[in-house]
Amino acid sequence: MTAARVTADRGRCIGSGQCSLALPEVFDADEEGLVTVDGDAAARVGPARLRGAVRLCPVRALTLEEVPAPGVP
Ligand code: SF4
Repeated sequence: MTAARVTADRGRCIGSGQCSLALPEVFDADEEGLVTVDGDAAARVGPARLRGAVRLCPVRALTLEEVPAPGVP
């Protein structure tokens, strides 16, 4: 089992909103229209759904890191 952490390169984000349309519980936009990430929500959503949203980003501003879940060798 894996846990997932997603990070956003806000310097690269162009505010297209694809990620927040796909997973509004994880991704949002700030007042400048640039992506924000709710890390706790991302952990709850899990890798499979995050992977799909990350792939939608047209400028590859999102990075998904999958790590072994705590307690799993
Ligand atoms: S899909 Fe990519 S460019 Fe669009 S808002 Fe999300 S991070 Fe920014």
